[in-house]
Amino acid sequence: MSFAELGLSKPITESLDALGYTKPTPIQAKSVPVILEGKDVLAAAQTGTGKTAAFVLPLLEQLRMQKPSQNKEVKALIVTPTRELAAQIDANIKAYAKNLRIRHQVIFGGVSAKNQIRQLIPGCELLTATPGRLLDLCSQGMLDLSKVQTLVLDEADRMLDMGFIHDIRRLLKLLPAKRQNLLFSATFAGEIRRLAQTLLNQPVEITVDRENQTARKVDQFYTLVDNNDKTGLLKQLVIENKWQQVLVFTRTKHGANRLTQRLERANINAAAIHGNKSQNARVNALNGFKDGRIEVLVATDIAARGLDIKQLPQIVNFDLPNIPEDYVHRIGRTGRAGQSGTAYSLVSEEQLPLLNDIEKFISSPINELNVAGFSASFSRKSAQSAKKSQPNRRHHAPRRNRPRKAAPAKS
Ligand code: AMP
Repeated sequence: MSFAELGLSKPITESLDALGYTKPTPIQAKSVPVILEGKDVLAAAQTGTGKTAAFVLPLLEQLRMQKPSQNKEVKALIVTPTRELAAQIDANIKAYAKNLRIRHQVIFGGVSAKNQIRQLIPGCELLTATPGRLLDLCSQGMLDLSKVQTLVLDEADRMLDMGFIHDIRRLLKLLPAKRQNLLFSATFAGEIRRLAQTLLNQPVEITVDRENQTARKVDQFYTLVDNNDKTGLLKQLVIENKWQQVLVFTRTKHGANRLTQRLERANINAAAIHGNKSQNARVNALNGFKDGRIEVLVATDIAARGLDIKQLPQIVNFDLPNIPEDYVHRIGRTGRAGQSGTAYSLVSEEQLPLLNDIEKFISSPINELNVAGFSASFSRKSAQSAKKSQPNRRHHAPRRNRPRKAAPAKS
């Protein structure tokens, strides 16, 4: 199956050739024809499956023969939870639309609105936005959404997690009733279903097989390690394996900053990326990481979500995530688009229950990796027998490690 057979025209397929895309990914093969027919879509696909092109390519095909938008108008609107994702989607649009006369813009918070407003005044065909800045500019009268033909909600599950549901409902009131809706989400969990029911009109449901998801292409290891030894172990892994580019996940923003400082003290070029960093600091860190100036990027889950870093060879879970699904998202940063990758988890004693939950969730055991010079003061067996002999002991991680409802994030 080729891109042309999916119904995409030459100017678009030529731009894909230039990018080295030889054939559609499964999510693209399933989504493009359905979207071109004008149907609503509910698609389960994670970052790394090629989902951005799955909705952008048919949008471009629909837009390419249409009259340009007028004053402040928009024809297709992509809403996505984070600034990084918005910037990445727009960068993809730029590459896919390079042979087309389609105006595309991106708006997100954390930077001055002035330039964004100036660019929106003549109107644009395709707008990518985070919810906060989008509503802000609408309420200032800087945007006219009354001509929107297609709405895409990207990473909808994460938008709900981040508390954007009210923003989404406010947004829906600003759109014309008759429009095409595309909802992309990593899962179809309860709340997503409810949103889908109110938003979508007889949607076509699209899922891609597990085989096509990134988790299968990633070699996964864990090492048992005492908390005090974690930084030393990470330093050793980076130095001994001569890692040039590794994404490291910590549970908290504070933990990300602290680890970054410790790595820098060991002459490892590191930077942290999280919600408390300014937009400029985040972009600089990401660019430094992409062009090789920064070897270790330390990130929290929300900041790392959706980062498109090509062929990331390895990731490290400095802390295991509280939610097993986040583990799958994290390791989705490596082994992308056919490349293989490795994920290492540094597991302290109180995180053992999380390791068990993750193995259950991915229905597969993770291999243990022993690293010379680092032997933990506990084992999985000793932890289990301790649990049996103290039936009333909490099975969960300490309170600070248990899932928290994410605070609404600013966009
Ligand atoms: P996404 O899931 O949209 O974040 O895409 C993941 C990565 O796959 C991005 O770097 C895309 O440029 C790349 N990609 C998307 N579609 C294809 C394709 N058909 N062939 C090769 N790479 C692709």
